[in-house]
Amino acid sequence: MGPLLFSLAIRPLLDRLSTYLGTDYLVLAYLDDVYVLSPAQELASAQGLTSTLEKIYSFFDSSPSSLKLNRTKCTGKTLSDIKEHGCNILGSCVGSPQSQAAFLASKIDKLANQVQNLASLPHQHALLLLRQCIQQDLQHLQRSLPDHPLINNQWTRLDRALWNEVRRLRGRVDQQQGDRQELEDAILSLPLRLGGLGVLSHLNVAPHALAASNEAADRHIDTFMNIQPSQQGSPTPAVKSQHERCQDMWETTQTNLIDTLDDTERKLLSEAASPLGRKWLNTIPFYQPLCLTDFEVSTALNYRTLACSPLTTCSWCSRPNSLGHDELCMTRRRQTVARHDSLARIIHSTLKLSIRQQNMSRTRSKAGEGMISASEDRSGAQSTTTSRCTPFSLLMRRKQPLEHKPTSPCPPTSPSSRSNT
Ligand SMILES: [Zn+2]
Repeated sequence: MGPLLFSLAIRPLLDRLSTYLGTDYLVLAYLDDVYVLSPAQELASAQGLTSTLEKIYSFFDSSPSSLKLNRTKCTGKTLSDIKEHGCNILGSCVGSPQSQAAFLASKIDKLANQVQNLASLPHQHALLLLRQCIQQDLQHLQRSLPDHPLINNQWTRLDRALWNEVRRLRGRVDQQQGDRQELEDAILSLPLRLGGLGVLSHLNVAPHALAASNEAADRHIDTFMNIQPSQQGSPTPAVKSQHERCQDMWETTQTNLIDTLDDTERKLLSEAASPLGRKWLNTIPFYQPLCLTDFEVSTALNYRTLACSPLTTCSWCSRPNSLGHDELCMTRRRQTVARHDSLARIIHSTLKLSIRQQNMSRTRSKAGEGMISASEDRSGAQSTTTSRCTPFSLLMRRKQPLEHKPTSPCPPTSPSSRSNT
């Protein structure tokens, strides 16, 4: 709501500025980021830019508006300067591919420092931050930077930094070679629902993001400029979103991946794609039962990336420590048995507690009924008072000898009725 109100408030001022500068100038604004495009003859020289800036300064000096211009943040750039060194606009960069690649490299350097800081966190926290925060910081640039080898090199560098951090959390920093590395990169970059880890590849997503952005922008400009579609009479096809474009790519990747896996790996990939298999990756450890140890996170990442144990030989049976051997080793106590025993213990303790609570409530209700019946024998008034008491007060009153009340019209309680209470 705030940005909308600010846009409405600043609109009249920008309209007056546009009228003041004349039709040769174009005023563009997004919230408080305002850009003024000068005529070509002024854009070509520094003197022309100074002239434009002086006009803008004089407008704001004479404006009655409470909005003031911050001159320290005002800069002018010639067209040749923008082509050579680029210009940062709305968090992205416009200019030559070299300047855009340098802009992206500086952003990736800052992000790499954030990734290094994850080393001081528990693995579960580090993985959550990596997947849900850090990897998304530069995704908006995929929709604005062009498809160029210099920029693609930077995307590759970013992907490597993120995937190597996952390998560190997994406990194995040694990178696989050849086909195995491609397989592992494909798993890391697949979405969770397809059995991957959801650390998407910037290099692969960038062309689809740019195409989706360009198509959406063209459609918006056509509507804004009232340009009719070329094919009259036929309905305009809907804009294909970035998600739809990437979906085809991911499904193709998954299909190719499955073709290269053996039966055990296919089963593990299928289990990783199930809702239960991927739930732990999005669980926030708000309290202790939701916390995973570093060892548990490393083991889960090893299974999810189809990586064997770091030990080549099983220390229990001396056989090769292949993928899934932890579950299949007949010598060691199988994890399936451990899970079964753990569940059996939980069910047993829950039933035991439930039965104990049921017995306690039954005993209390019996005590209450006995006391009420005893009071009813004595007088109606006392019965009313007793029925409003709590079970605790009823039990306490059982210890009071009724025969010590001289005003009571009732005879002393018989041993049989006392035993009932
Ligand atoms: Zn073994």
